[in-house]
Amino acid sequence: MGKHSMTEASGSSLSSMPEWYTQGLPHIWLPYSQMKTASAPLVAARTHNTRITLTDGRELVDGVAAWWTACHGYNHPHIRQAVCQQMETMPHVMFGGMMHQPALRLASRLCTMLPGDLERVFFTDSGSVSVEVAMKMAIQYRLNKGQTKRTKMLAFRGGYHGDTLATMSVCDPEEGMHHLYGSALMEHVISPLPVDEASTATFLDLLAKHAHELAAIITEPLVQGAGGMLFHSPQTLRTLRKAANDHDVLLILDEIFTGFGRTGTMFACEQAGIVPDIITLSKALTGGTMALAATVARRHVFEAFLSDNPEHALMHGPTFMANPLACACANASLDLFETEPRLQQVQNINAFLTEALEPCRTLPGVKDVRTLGAIGVVELEKINNPDALRQRFIAEGVWIRPFRNIVYLTPAFTIEKQDLRKLTDAIYKVLS
Ligand SMILES: *Cc1c(COP(=O)(O)O)cnc(C)c1O
Repeated sequence: MGKHSMTEASGSSLSSMPEWYTQGLPHIWLPYSQMKTASAPLVAARTHNTRITLTDGRELVDGVAAWWTACHGYNHPHIRQAVCQQMETMPHVMFGGMMHQPALRLASRLCTMLPGDLERVFFTDSGSVSVEVAMKMAIQYRLNKGQTKRTKMLAFRGGYHGDTLATMSVCDPEEGMHHLYGSALMEHVISPLPVDEASTATFLDLLAKHAHELAAIITEPLVQGAGGMLFHSPQTLRTLRKAANDHDVLLILDEIFTGFGRTGTMFACEQAGIVPDIITLSKALTGGTMALAATVARRHVFEAFLSDNPEHALMHGPTFMANPLACACANASLDLFETEPRLQQVQNINAFLTEALEPCRTLPGVKDVRTLGAIGVVELEKINNPDALRQRFIAEGVWIRPFRNIVYLTPAFTIEKQDLRKLTDAIYKVLS
């Protein structure tokens, strides 16, 4: 291995590893990792429901459901069957000048489930790109109306909307690494979320001051996920909806994390009784099996693109747009929300997490314990060595990934009670 490469996994000697491992390791570039010092990740071999089996035979209970995606657990037979069937008839076909049943069926089903007149679906292949499309839609909505100056977004501290250049520029300035990329990022207006009197006043001031240059307000509803699982009340969303209306600014809700039941309702915006102008969906859209995302617009947004001027068309089209395998997968995932009691399971998980994590509150160094839907969070004063903490969890047989200053659970909705107990017991034990 080269000098500037990750160190081998603890407890395994390289000579005992298969050739694909020793040959591949020097060529892999890991996410969010300093490659000079990063230790090699675990090697997964198989998954089943809420468990991951490693190549060395160890089995871990997954507490994060593959970055918040695998809401039905891994390898659900209904999803597997749908994907296998689609694989036989048509794995992929271009979406330019052509379309297909899995995409049309998925689009109409999503629009039926979504509130209000969110009724036009634009498919992409990742969450970040679906947010970029939402931003382009909002900007072009203005341009098509002849308003050329309204190209900025108002975004919030603690927010996360993706890792591409355009989405980084609407993330929290510190966590979004704005200082690292500096002038490569677009400049937007960053406000505190209106959660109390003072922050609401600041937000309304910023909005009034910048409305003439704003295309949209963008936020994650109810939970800022990657920002540290920060919760806010439905009232905050109602404040945003009203302020957006008052200033004729569009409201984009990024439900990539919160969509599909995670917060207790199918979509988080339902809890505030509001309808965004544009919504983005991804993560659990395919039940965590394939990459797919959707940007859904309300009728009035879509209508601003209807014109005799060809330049008024939305100019975007990913190569793998509406991939039929991914659409079949998403349709199968929606079937499961209809045929199995997912929202009830989320409620049960919430009751369990609320009770089982409560004892952590009195542990030294614990700042807060909170739950919402199938999300459980133990916030610490500070995590000194997240790597060591992860290793402790692995030793307990659980896959829990602390970040920033939190230890959290976002399990599959299908998780068995004993597996959930294993996760909460591990958190209590390790934090003790
Ligand atoms: C994960 C996430 C994204 C980015 O999605 P990718 O598929 O990783 O590009 C955007 N917004 C939110 C709220 C997310 O949780």
